Amino acid sequence: MTMTHVQLRQLFQKFWQERGHREVPTIPLVPQNDPTTLFTGSGMQQLVPYLLGEPHPLGKKLYNIQPCFRAQDIEEVGDNRHTTFFEMMGNWSLGTYFKKDQLTWFWQFLTEELKLPKEKLYISVFAGTKEISEDKESYEIWKSLGVPEKHIFKYGPDKNWWSRAGEPQNMPAGEPGGPDSEVFYEFTQVEHDKKFGEKCHPNCDCGRFLEIGNSVFMEYKKNPDGTFSPLPNKNVDFGGGLERLLAAANDEPDIFKTDVFSDIVKIIERWSGKHYEGENIRSIRVIADHIKASTFIILSGVRPSNKGQGYVLRRLLRRAAIKMHKLNGRLTPHEFANIADEGVLKTYENVYSDHQNTRETVMFVIEDELNKFEKTLDRALREFQKIDKINGKIAFDFYQSYGLPVEIMHELATEKGQVINLKEFLEAFHKHRELSRTASAGMFKGGLADQSEQTIKYHTATHLINQVLFDVLGNEVRQEGSNITGERLRFDYYSPVKPTPEQIKQVETIVNEKIKQALPVEFKIMPKAEADKLGAKSFFREKYPEMVKVYFIGIYSKEFCGGPHVKNTSEIGKISIFKSEKVGSNLYRLYAK
Ligand SMILES: [Zn+2]
Ligand SMILES: [Zn+2]
Repeated sequence: MTMTHVQLRQLFQKFWQERGHREVPTIPLVPQNDPTTLFTGSGMQQLVPYLLGEPHPLGKKLYNIQPCFRAQDIEEVGDNRHTTFFEMMGNWSLGTYFKKDQLTWFWQFLTEELKLPKEKLYISVFAGTKEISEDKESYEIWKSLGVPEKHIFKYGPDKNWWSRAGEPQNMPAGEPGGPDSEVFYEFTQVEHDKKFGEKCHPNCDCGRFLEIGNSVFMEYKKNPDGTFSPLPNKNVDFGGGLERLLAAANDEPDIFKTDVFSDIVKIIERWSGKHYEGENIRSIRVIADHIKASTFIILSGVRPSNKGQGYVLRRLLRRAAIKMHKLNGRLTPHEFANIADEGVLKTYENVYSDHQNTRETVMFVIEDELNKFEKTLDRALREFQKIDKINGKIAFDFYQSYGLPVEIMHELATEKGQVINLKEFLEAFHKHRELSRTASAGMFKGGLADQSEQTIKYHTATHLINQVLFDVLGNEVRQEGSNITGERLRFDYYSPVKPTPEQIKQVETIVNEKIKQALPVEFKIMPKAEADKLGAKSFFREKYPEMVKVYFIGIYSKEFCGGPHVKNTSEIGKISIFKSEKVGSNLYRLYAK
């Protein structure tokens, strides 16, 4: 019996509802108000303020299935389990239940709902360090659930510790963290590959073991002297990849053969004329992953460009196109758009219902971008043919600036009786990759909001700006997004009329008046209908639960928001708008600091 992804979602939802959990609406794939990350990379991202102590409007027991994207995994796509886009199934306890309930319930979910055979499940727990004792409690709970000791492995803080800063020694004083416990599924049909070590074990990378869920237990706080003491409120943060749980439920080691990918793979086979077998497998996996991720990124409002999310989208589409070229020697913009339509959108039509309306947008964006890429490639090929002596470094420059695949350059070069020095090419390639890894490590780090004092001040200022723009420019004005760093805030908004420089000046003046009035900033948790009735501003792209948190700045501004904020506007200090520009049709952007 195969399990479909729709069945898995239903089981998960019912399971947590029966145990008193409320569903937290998912956040957009491109997060708002979070300057530290380009994409939503985990289910817990939106829950950070609540895990740190803010009350959540839906209560203390929560769950959801969050679409996520991790750009840093792009180079790993091609094996049986890594993808850039994935959905994270999560449940949370905010200071209510802890290890015993969490581990027991997850075990029940795996063995009773998904009917996974117990003998194929393996566990990892925290082995402890000098400062922090090992997680004996979890070890004993797993044993009491019937897991044999030979299936429970102990790992150090590099594998089984969670904090926003990583391992215990990197945590600043006051930072919460704790041990975690993972569950692995063993695909007995996969032979261990000695390339990954003499012996196979749950954390081996050969593909025999798949991590299918991780329960994080936030129970400690780091003291200024480097020791750890227990937190008064202990939290559980669980995350498990939907694609991986689906693979385990079907005893299918290749997630690309489960129904979150199988139709996409079929359409790629149709258009490429190549079967999903042998040396084609890696290329087809990359195409399937990248087209799926691109589709969801386009649906969250991103368009291809040379920076930020737009650059990631462009890179995904070009990488997919190059793999297709490798498979069948052609670049096919329309066929690519069809993979997104008949493959991706169809697979998820019962999950993300609003997607049907946006089909045409997705197809248009993909076709348009790949048509442009085709032209770029043609131009690159002409340039390339003009070069007399091709070396590895030049070849790399072409690869880098035009995305010209090395195989194609090789053919050209061969026609001229030349050889590309692959060693030189690879050296340049690796050097570049190291550089971009370092850059992306900063850019994509974990996706946890930076909550420095300055970003909290700027964020609170965006509430004021939002209301003042509305008052000055008219009631059709609405916020389109914001982005905050420690140095400045950026605010995007829709306005049917272009703001004049005088109006922008006026906005600045009123914002500063409100700051000077020292208005209190407070929140209330209330039913969404009541908040709407009050006229609280909401973000139109966001879905909200039936209970919401509304922040009030005096009686001047009311806005749906999770926080955190300053307590009084006087803390914000003076705000100056230093740039105002048009960024699209009826779309404007301002910068302030
Ligand atoms: Zn192995
Ligand atoms: Zn806010």
